Amino acid sequence: MKVITRFAPSPTGYIHIGNVRSAIYPYLVARKAKKDGKFILRIEDTDQARYVESATDLILDTLKWLGLSWDEGPDIGGKNGPYYQTERKELYLEYAKKLLEQGRAYADPTDSETIENYRKEDNEKKIPYLYRNHRPETTPEWKEGIPIRFKADPKPRKWHDEVMGDLHAGPEVQDDIILIKKDGLPTYNFAHIIDDYLMGCTHIMRGVEYLPSTPNYLALYEALGIDMPKIVSLPHVLRPDGRKKLGKRDGAKSVTEYREDGILPEAMLNYLACLGWNDGSEQEIYTKEELIEKFSIDRIQNSGARYDETKLLWMNGQWIRRIKDEKGIDALFEKTTGFWPENAKNATDEYRKRVLDIIYDRLKTLSDLREMTTYFFSDPKINIDMLLNNKFLKKLSESELGSLLDISITKLGSLGSWDRNSLQDALNALLEETGKKPAELFSLIRLAVSFAPFSPALNLTLNVIGKEATLARLRAVKVALLSDGE
Ligand code: GLU
Repeated sequence: MKVITRFAPSPTGYIHIGNVRSAIYPYLVARKAKKDGKFILRIEDTDQARYVESATDLILDTLKWLGLSWDEGPDIGGKNGPYYQTERKELYLEYAKKLLEQGRAYADPTDSETIENYRKEDNEKKIPYLYRNHRPETTPEWKEGIPIRFKADPKPRKWHDEVMGDLHAGPEVQDDIILIKKDGLPTYNFAHIIDDYLMGCTHIMRGVEYLPSTPNYLALYEALGIDMPKIVSLPHVLRPDGRKKLGKRDGAKSVTEYREDGILPEAMLNYLACLGWNDGSEQEIYTKEELIEKFSIDRIQNSGARYDETKLLWMNGQWIRRIKDEKGIDALFEKTTGFWPENAKNATDEYRKRVLDIIYDRLKTLSDLREMTTYFFSDPKINIDMLLNNKFLKKLSESELGSLLDISITKLGSLGSWDRNSLQDALNALLEETGKKPAELFSLIRLAVSFAPFSPALNLTLNVIGKEATLARLRAVKVALLSDGE
């Protein structure tokens, strides 16, 4: 059985989390069907007011970044093209004209002011506004510049939604919807029906916000003599508090922003696929291949899915680790371009890889590198207050701190080898020699070389910073401490 799904975004420039999920699900369904499956990308650009130049490129780029591919689309063409709705104008008109001929549509010259008044009148009378109650008695012959409206056939309607179950609606929600606008372009309501039909789509997977319009679509399918594809309404993505649909204003970043923040595509795909779907197991981390294998429409949840950025960040951390552990440091390093701090620009790739190798398991996003690694690339600014206020160090006097640094400088300075193990041995010996707890002595050394709130294990940190720089930093801090005490 053929499975043909599609993603049909409108190029408005902002790619909401929910939009991308509407691409992932149909992609998974098509790929799961292997050679019987096809995934089509169609650009719904008929709303000229919302159209943003270059938005299509952003969509294609985002999908590619996520690792999604399509079998037909604006960039690669296909037998059902074109894939921009504005280039399919004639097709929609052809079908609209058929409806005109059948008496199932009419040319409607009513201007928008009059329509607005109808709405107001009905509001005042407290009756639900339906355009069909104001249907003009006589209508002109259609010519360009006049909108074409569907002539509704209001009656009880029933349908099945693969996610929402058996649904029904009464005549009160069926109206004379516009098919072709004044500008000659079709409405979404009309265009998608024609396109899905001509492109052979077997499944319409889209946000549940289109569910209330479905009775009107049913009427159109009926009038056009088209079999309705399977309807798969995807649950809303909700705000973290679960109260409302997640919107731009809720601080939800666009996918582009997450990408710029260093969220890995693997994590984004994984997170969004599981936002409203699960396979019934406890598994949380899925590769794309596993998602393709396990995804099924009957496990899409029918209630809204709460968006949880903390979870996304957690998953990203898991993916950072997984890539390093399974594919090696080079594979992870490749993904870090553009995420290093400014002062790393002269460092070699070799050196950056060493830094990455000891810090990757603390990263939540790749852009954490910017904040967390600066002290590996240049001497940090000495901040004596940070030392003195540290919770483990504040019990110690400045002179005590100074002499601890002294002992450390001597010990570390005498090391013949600066490898991780020799360093660990030397640090252990220092604990013994000074009688201090690791929290005290190691916090002191760690802060003195980094002035950062945390760093990887101390021996690893010192190993990467190098002997010369470590000793120089410890000495400089000692001098600063002494002059601070004077
Ligand atoms: N262009 C519509 C949107 O971006 C697509 C809905 C659909 O998939 O049919 O919301």
